[in-house]
Amino acid sequence: MPSTAVNHPVGPRSQAAFSRALNLIPGGVNSPARAFGGVGGSPLFIERAAGPYLFDLDGRRYLDFIGSWGPMILGHAHPEVIEAIQRSAERGTSFGAPTEAESELAERIIRAVPSVERVRLVNSGTEATMSAIRVARGVTGRDKIVKFAGNYHGHVDSLLVSAGSAAATLGVPDSPGVTAGAGGDTIVLPYNDIPSLVSTFDRHAGEVAAVILEPVVGNMGCVIPTADFLRELRELTRRDGAVLIFDEVMTGFRLSLGGAQSLYGVTPDMTTLGKIVGGGMPLGAYGGKEEIMRHVLPAGKIFQAGTLSGNPVAVAAGNATLRLLESDPPYDYLESLGQRLADGLSAAAADAGIAHQVQRVGSMMTLFFNACPVLNWRDADLSDRDAFARYFWGLIGRGVYMPCSQFEALFFGKTHTIEQVDETIDAARQTFADWG
Ligand SMILES: *Cc1c(COP(=O)(O)O)cnc(C)c1O
Repeated sequence: MPSTAVNHPVGPRSQAAFSRALNLIPGGVNSPARAFGGVGGSPLFIERAAGPYLFDLDGRRYLDFIGSWGPMILGHAHPEVIEAIQRSAERGTSFGAPTEAESELAERIIRAVPSVERVRLVNSGTEATMSAIRVARGVTGRDKIVKFAGNYHGHVDSLLVSAGSAAATLGVPDSPGVTAGAGGDTIVLPYNDIPSLVSTFDRHAGEVAAVILEPVVGNMGCVIPTADFLRELRELTRRDGAVLIFDEVMTGFRLSLGGAQSLYGVTPDMTTLGKIVGGGMPLGAYGGKEEIMRHVLPAGKIFQAGTLSGNPVAVAAGNATLRLLESDPPYDYLESLGQRLADGLSAAAADAGIAHQVQRVGSMMTLFFNACPVLNWRDADLSDRDAFARYFWGLIGRGVYMPCSQFEALFFGKTHTIEQVDETIDAARQTFADWG
């Protein structure tokens, strides 16, 4: 965390709202990534959002590069998504009985995501990864899970070991409360490291239920897999009979309609989804090959359930979002916007003599204040957090809202324009000019 106090331009209403929340909610927030803990200071409280903009309680407008940490690829309050939500809510908000719209969403997911032949809807990304792990263990009859340092898979006990995202930002990669039993079957390896993968499968042949990873990492900042890493993972798991799980909660429907697995042409056995699939409502999903998913209750014996799973309002938002992504794919546009933003931020930092790396896939990107390329958590951890905090607050002061941690990826969406990207690059230039 930054050692120096940073001058932060947070308005009086946001500050008052935070003081109130601090007496009611742990740390004043309902999810730790929101607390600005990695950059020092108190968070902005948001009143509303539209297109690429957030508006805070003090009436200030920000160009938004977090997109609710991933879901808002179509921009905030997209009229067709809002209409779908309203229409659905008018017909009742939960039935506890199946609806046709759930099959419609399942069809869209199965059509888009290569590894998914059957899919179960849940309420969050955390539920999706927790359930996928249980299914992988149930199907293989094995206990061990392999994960990678700095990857984040939600707050599942067995996966909250060397975790990324807020766990990394706030210095608790291994949370108190996770028992030795819960974490004991989790093997943590460095990302992009093939030798450690090979030796793990040698040492634990026939013991690994699943390997779970972010196929492009967003949760230690944006870290890109090497082509060999993904290919080797696929090969080793196939040979050993372990289930390969791509956690595409962040990358699904963002890097392409079929996620990272489509982009890289590597098909896992199971996939977890969240964020975009719910169109800004609480919804997640896990799916995979029919031969695996047929073991899930009531088709099979592996228990997984949810009172609000397949919630009609969330499903309506998901269907509207995926329909719009299918009918008018934004991915080429997002790629060109991303290239422009990456080039511009990199030039601005280079011109100011600041050591940096811009790492990006499509509309996921991180500006690392780091002299060396970031391939894994050890590299990411060498980044200059103080520099990041100054960059963050410099941009906030200029109306640009970046993720409040060096270890998160930024996102943009379809409603961001070239002009807004250029304004962002200018804001970064001005921030770096004030560095002195
Ligand atoms: C956000 C995220 C999760 C957790 O999803 P929640 O909906 O926050 O529970 C899991 N995996 C990845 C890769 C994520 O980015």
